[in-house]
This record gives sequence, C-alpha cells and structure tokens, in this order.
Amino acid sequence: VDRDIQYDMDKLQDSFPGFRSKYRLIKRIGEGTFSTVYKAEDLAYDRYDNSWDFDRDSDKWTPPPLKSFSSGDHHQTVRRRKPKYVAIKKIYVTSSPTRILNELELLHDLRDCENVCPLITAFRATDQVVAILPYFRHADFREYFRNMTVHDISIYLRSLFTALASVHRHHILHRDIKPTNFLYDPETRRGVLVDFGLAEREGSECKPCLCHDDYQTRKARLANHNTKATVGGYPKQDTRPSRRANRAGTRGFRAPEVLFKCTEQTTKIDIWSVGVILLTILSKRFPFFNSADDVEAMIEIATIFGREKMKEAGKLHGCAFETTIPTIGSGGFSFERIILWSTCRSDSEKTLPADEKMAVEFLKRCLDLDPRHRISAEEALEHDFLQYGMG
Ligand code: ADP
Ligand code: MG
Repeated sequence: VDRDIQYDMDKLQDSFPGFRSKYRLIKRIGEGTFSTVYKAEDLAYDRYDNSWDFDRDSDKWTPPPLKSFSSGDHHQTVRRRKPKYVAIKKIYVTSSPTRILNELELLHDLRDCENVCPLITAFRATDQVVAILPYFRHADFREYFRNMTVHDISIYLRSLFTALASVHRHHILHRDIKPTNFLYDPETRRGVLVDFGLAEREGSECKPCLCHDDYQTRKARLANHNTKATVGGYPKQDTRPSRRANRAGTRGFRAPEVLFKCTEQTTKIDIWSVGVILLTILSKRFPFFNSADDVEAMIEIATIFGREKMKEAGKLHGCAFETTIPTIGSGGFSFERIILWSTCRSDSEKTLPADEKMAVEFLKRCLDLDPRHRISAEEALEHDFLQYGMG
C-alpha cells in the first residue's frame, strides 16, 4: 500500500473510537470529487449480528434478535468464518453538512430498493462522516464494455433500470448516472447503483420552466418575448432574472435540459445519462462525449441531432440555439450511422444486424431531446429490448 494511502487509512482508523475493533481496512478502492472509499472487513459480523432493523409498521428501529447457537451436531467440523466486506465511504470534510445529510437521508429512503446499494450505518466524529455500505464486487467498466453482446447489454441495462425505476418511484433524481456509479459484476451479471451525493428530490429547487406548459401557452410566451427590442438577437434591456438551474452531474452525461438550464428538471435527466452509457457501449467509445464545458457539450449533441432539432429542444425551455459551426448540419446523423462509423463497419456494412437495431430503437427512446417524450424507467422495463435479455 502506498505511503500516503496508508497514512490516510491510519488517520481514519484513529479518528473513530473503536474503529479498529469493528473494521479492518484493506485498501482504497475509490477516490472521487467528494469522497474516498475503502474496502474493509466487518469484524463484528457473524460474531454477533449487530444490525438494527427498521420496522415499517411501528416506524421504529428494532434491535437485532438474540442469536442462539446450536450445539447439537457433534460431527460438525469447525467452519471458517466467511469474512464480510464493507465499503467505507469517507465523505470529505469540505462537503456541507446539508449535503452529507441529504445523501444519507436519500440512501435511507431507498434502503429497500432492488439494485440500489443499501446503507448499513453511518458514523460521525467531529467533522468527519463515514458511510458503511455492503461491499459489492464489480469490474471496471472500461474492461468489459467493448466485449458486451447485445444480450449482455440488455441484462446490464435491465439491472440499471430496475434501480432507477425504484429511485424515480421515490421521486428522487440521481443526477450522476455514469459507469463508475453503477457497480456491475459481469460474472454474476448483477449490478448496484451507488453514489447519491448529488441526488435530490424532484421539484426541490423548482421554478416554473416553459417546458411544463402546453404547446400553445409556450408559443404565446415566446412570441411575447420576441417582440421586445433586440440588439443582435439579445433584448436591449434584458430585464429577465439570470437563469439559475441545478447543473450538478458529470460532463458528457448531462441531459440537454440541464445544459439549457431548465428550472424544472425531472427524473428524465437520469434516463438521458443511461442513453449516453448505451451509446458508449454500442459505439465502443469511452468517453463518447468529451466536452470541457456546457457549450461544447451542446455542440456535441447538436452535431448528432442537427441544428433544427436542437433549436426545438432549446425553445422548449425558452432558449435560442444559434450556431455557425460548419460541422453542425441541419439534420444531423442517425445513431445507426454513428455506430457503424465508430465501430469501423461503415465500409463493409450498410445497416446494423437485427439485434443491434433493436438496441438502437431503445437508444432513441432514451436519448430523446424532449424530456417529456423520453422513455421513463418504468416504461423501459417493458420495452422489447429489456425483455430480450430475459429470454
Ligand atoms: P464519489 O461520490 O466519491 O464518486 P462513490 O459512492 O461513487 O463516491 O464511490 C466511489 C467509488 O468507490 C465507486 O466508483 C466504486 O468504485 C467504489 N465503491 C463505492 N461504493 C462501493 C461498494 N458498496 N462496493 C464496492 N465498491 C464501492
Ligand atoms: Mg461516484
């Protein structure tokens, strides 16, 4: 183990009283913007079951049942205790207390959701908070995504959409769907969604956005706006308040409505991000989008969809989209084209095989520029493509 990592691990163990008797830190497994994650052995496990259960009927936490040990079987050989591993997420002390509380609270709300990594417990010592999660064995996305068959992709996405359907049913937006936040084990074909550090409840900092109006109302409001005096396309005296919208997320995975600063974002932003993952797998290019900022991200999306559709998408949120960039055509390119190109098959093949076509049909439903028409997680689970992996 690297000396710096060892130093941090020692410090962590010393900052919580009794830490060393509860957990044995093994190694660092992740280092992100907001936390460091370690793999550890849960030493208390099996010696006694110390986990409390939440009783939904009484709305109370109940202590663990007392365990009785049977000594009836004399022939039983001594079994070695199977170690239980946990992931210890050390949240950086620079995170705001509300933010830390938010993550833990949402995880607690989602504790019974399939394919969502549950929170075992959490500790605080002065300003340091750690979350304890069951350790989930997984492979690095970059190691397996190029070798996935369409069947594999269907199973992978079914698992991710199962998680999202429950998260969205709780009216929670994850906001940071990307491969490193969906831990997948290609061997067992199981996956869990992690990292609710940016997640929020739907409608938490909401101001009305045009996209929630019906077509006529939106048209009228846009027309009203356009009659005002303008200089070079901008209103002469712009009295509009500057737009502020939640832009949290990871570049390359942000939905168009996030880029257009929609103030009424919905759970559909997560669906777009899954679409980006699917496009990554089908095109065998990671990262597929590689923009440095939101404007570049818009250019990338506009290159695929074309100027006209991008304009429409902007208008939905009251934004004008103008560009003179020559590589942005008016009609864009089909996903099928893009996938054939990026997998170097455009010379030999004119169309994709049937199973990939089905995946592309599904991709179109995820990467719909209009969040209202974009498929929901619930609907996705019913889609032919996600049923395919089950057959
Ligand atoms: P961050 O907010 O810093 O991105 P995450 O919750 O995404 O923190 O965790 C960072 C990384 O740690 C993950 O990408 C994953 O590799 C690893 N990790 C997180 N939780 C677990 C877990 N329960 N089991 C195994 N590895 C985990
Ligand atoms: Mg993460």
